[in-house]
Amino acid sequence: MLFSDFSDLCTRLEAISGRLEMIDVLQGELPSLSEGELPVFVRFIMGRIFPDWRPEKVGVGPNLLYEGVAYVAGIKKESVVRTINREGDVGRAVEHILTTKEQTSFFTTALELEEVYRDFTYIAGVGGSRSQREKLKVIRRLFANAQPVEGKYLARLLLGELRIGIGEGNIRDAIARAFDVPSVLVEHAYQARNDLGEVALLAREGADALSGVRIELFRPVKMMLAQQGSIGAMLAEHGAVAAEMKYDGSRFQFHKKGGECRIYSRKLEDVTHALPDIVQALVGATKHDVILDGEVIAVRDGKPLPFQFVLRRFRRKHDLDLHIDEITMIPWVFDLLFLDGTTYIDATLSERRAHLESVLGDYIAPQLVSDNTEEVEEFYREALEKGHEGIMIKAPSSPYTPGVRGKNWVKIKPAVDTLDLAVIGAEWGEGRRAKLYGSFLLACRDSGEFIPVSKVATGFSDEMLAIMYDLLKDTVLSTSGKEIVFEPSVVIEVGYAEIQRSPNYSGGYALRFPRFICLREDKSVDDVESLAQIGERYYSQVTSVKP
Ligand code: AMP
Repeated sequence: MLFSDFSDLCTRLEAISGRLEMIDVLQGELPSLSEGELPVFVRFIMGRIFPDWRPEKVGVGPNLLYEGVAYVAGIKKESVVRTINREGDVGRAVEHILTTKEQTSFFTTALELEEVYRDFTYIAGVGGSRSQREKLKVIRRLFANAQPVEGKYLARLLLGELRIGIGEGNIRDAIARAFDVPSVLVEHAYQARNDLGEVALLAREGADALSGVRIELFRPVKMMLAQQGSIGAMLAEHGAVAAEMKYDGSRFQFHKKGGECRIYSRKLEDVTHALPDIVQALVGATKHDVILDGEVIAVRDGKPLPFQFVLRRFRRKHDLDLHIDEITMIPWVFDLLFLDGTTYIDATLSERRAHLESVLGDYIAPQLVSDNTEEVEEFYREALEKGHEGIMIKAPSSPYTPGVRGKNWVKIKPAVDTLDLAVIGAEWGEGRRAKLYGSFLLACRDSGEFIPVSKVATGFSDEMLAIMYDLLKDTVLSTSGKEIVFEPSVVIEVGYAEIQRSPNYSGGYALRFPRFICLREDKSVDDVESLAQIGERYYSQVTSVKP
């Protein structure tokens, strides 16, 4: 497939708003793709370059991209930035620049989809002191050979912002229809393999290939997530529930095969080197080959410390000397996904728990199975007294659904009125904060797009504003007057008094009295709240006010 055909398809898809029509167009495209093209196409159309479980990142920020485009167009970088500010969108700006550029070379070669992928892979792999220059070389070559519309989508892919508004669910359904296999099988295989590109290849082979998928050691799967809910509703729905402490730390996934093991963070980054004490603890606690799911917490004098202490450790890039770290880390394990060659995500929580208890000698998160409201409430009180965030209530008969924020896991904590949102813009501060960003524009997600729902300016210390500036300064996509637009990469947790209906934001909702609570460096922008969830919260507010 030519990259120009891919780009034309993106243009077509961008113009479609109906879900079914989108699926139709995609479905028509998939069968004709070659073995090599199919996985690349599927990932690209999702706005991704590499499989979700792979650690590679292209590592091309706006600056490098603008420099490459400027070179190819024979203009100054400032001029690229001005066009982006005027257009308000990097993709459209690059398209415009390439349309008007003087023809610097007459002999361009048509870009192939797979060739673009190979170049991205090469860029992701270059390291060392010359890496920026090497990356720039490849970027220049790509853009020099790109038609304007190709430039638009190359830029967006490189920045991780394709923005054609196709949700994962639509791509899954298109794959299912294109190869005539059940959608649930595609979804299930995706959960286990964590790469929809590879799953498309399996779907082409047929239903048997899809249902035969297994989890593999050292290929992290997405973590199962929780919704907000209530003790009463869970008991009413499931009869008995499994309750655990909600630990305020960092999620981890532990993979072990013989003497080899790795620990992955919630973003599926390999953080093994930063957690030698956790490795030692868990390796000492089981002889089996396992994949375990849990939460690492930091403790001092027997009391849990805020999760920032854990994050600090997760962030360490180098091996550390544990003697200088007086904080104790505890890996509380609450699930088992794989044991000695068998995948357990389809087993019930009760079965997984039984296996967990039989193979792990220590660090199993205490669990209360109960059908009694008072008992569960007492457990909740106990959790809060011990300094935990609250409790998690889980349906004992539920499977492990990677990446799904379903109703089978529910979190109960006192202050429920917070949201995790992506920072997509800012305004410069004033007075002593004039050299820092002072207020931030926050967005939730809807079918892969970021939808603004609030601005937040309160709750930041000067120190936190400096940290925010550091995190965001290299992700600036455009500026206009005091306003700055970022490539979404940072997630923060905000508190609010109420969700309101609002014509000021395209999603139709706004937060009343938003305030910054904390940075969520453990979360990626894929994890932020969805517009639908915000809608649900709005309606539950309304119904609790007016029964
Ligand atoms: P939240 O980050 O507020 O969406 O809450 C969900 C998170 O709580 C999970 O992703 C875990 O990192 C964490 N957590 C703490 N304790 C547990 C537990 N017992 N079971 C599952 N998740 C837990």
